[in-house]
Amino acid sequence: MAFSILSIFSSPFIFPLKTPKPFKPQKHRTITCCSQEPKRPSKNPQRPTSRNRKRTPYGTSRRSILKKTFTQEQVKFTAGVSADPHVGIIGGGMAGLICALNLEKRGVKSTVFDTGMHGLGGRMGTRVIDPQQLIFDHAAQLFTVSDSRFAELVEYWLEKGLVRQWQGLVGLLELGGQFVPLPSSAPRFIGVKGMRPLADSLLSETSMVNVVRPCWISKLEPFNGMWHLSENGRPRGKFDAIVIAHNGKCANRLLALSGLPLIARQMKRLELSSIWALLAAFEDPLPIGDGKVTFEGAFVKGVDSVSWMANNSMKLLGSHSNGPHCWTFFSTAAYGKRNKVPQENIPTATADKVKTSMLEGVEAALGLPKESLQRPFYARVQLWGAALPTNSPGIPCIFDPYGRAGICGDWLLGSNLESAALSGMALANHIADYFQSGGACPEEFAVGLEKEFQPIQGHDIGQFPGVESLTHDNQMPAYQVAT
Ligand SMILES: Cc1cc2nc3c(=O)[nH]c(=O)nc-3n(C[C@H](O)[C@H](O)[C@H](O)COP(=O)(O)OP(=O)(O)OC[C@H]3O[C@@H](n4cnc5c(N)ncnc54)[C@H](O)[C@@H]3O)c2cc1C
Repeated sequence: MAFSILSIFSSPFIFPLKTPKPFKPQKHRTITCCSQEPKRPSKNPQRPTSRNRKRTPYGTSRRSILKKTFTQEQVKFTAGVSADPHVGIIGGGMAGLICALNLEKRGVKSTVFDTGMHGLGGRMGTRVIDPQQLIFDHAAQLFTVSDSRFAELVEYWLEKGLVRQWQGLVGLLELGGQFVPLPSSAPRFIGVKGMRPLADSLLSETSMVNVVRPCWISKLEPFNGMWHLSENGRPRGKFDAIVIAHNGKCANRLLALSGLPLIARQMKRLELSSIWALLAAFEDPLPIGDGKVTFEGAFVKGVDSVSWMANNSMKLLGSHSNGPHCWTFFSTAAYGKRNKVPQENIPTATADKVKTSMLEGVEAALGLPKESLQRPFYARVQLWGAALPTNSPGIPCIFDPYGRAGICGDWLLGSNLESAALSGMALANHIADYFQSGGACPEEFAVGLEKEFQPIQGHDIGQFPGVESLTHDNQMPAYQVAT
């Protein structure tokens, strides 16, 4: 597609990072600006065991200190930075993947660990049900671009045919069926085959990134100047630095006993919404529009159980698709909060209740008579228990140079894919700069460890240019969708 997005966007984000320089490995150095513990010999330097755990390079047994104080002692790596550093990235969503990509650009190798059974991407999920030809983007629906660095990346994805502009009609749907189109000034993009395939393609041209999936990193242990990662007791490698590229309960648990109290504290400040997703396939088109104008996506206003609806068949397969009509519906965050259950183990009664009330919400949003909406022949609910951040420190990344650990993720800048990508980029450059410095003056590389959080404004499913103006100041012509 002959479409250039680079020229039209300028950056709204403050990005206090240095211009990327190619990574020049340095020889091991003795740190002079902080005291260094003597390195102790170990019979098995590969991984910590119960016998050798006490002999850590940063002094006394961390375990005993944890027991005594109930607070974590800060890990301080004092040995010089390796000449050929390797970064362990825990989380293969947009932020972790872009971090790996940018570390490679700076000559630093990495391994990405992700829990995904079916693919990478985290909240860039696409569900395909083969025999029935059903397809649903079941978290991120679309993305917008406002920063020139993200625009450059998206331009490349456009050239590679990984993404395209979503030309379908998207707007604001008010309870009762009044629809206002979103202004077309902010182009919307989608993965050509859905969001998950986009995520799976992001690292396809890398040579210094290793991906391990499905893998759930359950423990981080500092030992002999390296981070040792393991999955339920199974060693998963040792790394010069680690990146936490996920959030929520899982990250809090992982960081609780890691020796990274500053990082753990920042992560614990994060607040996340919960959102229900209903994936529903219908035999016939939903009764929207007069046959001439039919929307493909709508932010919904005034309905408790529905905040977004999108026709995936139209979005991903186009008007040529003559198969079933696959819709993704999201609840509001308020509804998600009130109806929260363990997301891995949703009681059948809750699933049925949520399905029913979300379909009733769709009916109300479209202004259809009660019980007139056709029954979907396929319907499945899913809870995003850690859906979207509701507060943020508003900085691109967090890095603890003493513990050689960083955090990236959407929540550091906002609540959308662009924020996640910018955060991954920022952390990669910051870590590469740190390695390049040889680790001699760690204090210069501490970022975001004390930053206060502010509430995030935006729609329940993230921040999208144009949506707020529609909500507050309806200037666009509205029309009734149900006839
Ligand atoms: C319902 C919903 C709708 C959304 N709609 C949009 C939208 O339309 N547009 C938009 O721009 N944004 C949208 N978003 C937000 C967008 O999806 C996120 O901002 C973005 O995907 C976050 O990327 P991330 O890399 O920060 O985190 P994630 O995508 O959450 O990635 C973290 C990854 O880490 C993995 N992980 C967690 N713990 C471990 C562990 N211990 N070991 C290994 N791996 C681990 C997880 O499985 C996951 O794959 C939506 C989000 C939701 C929930």
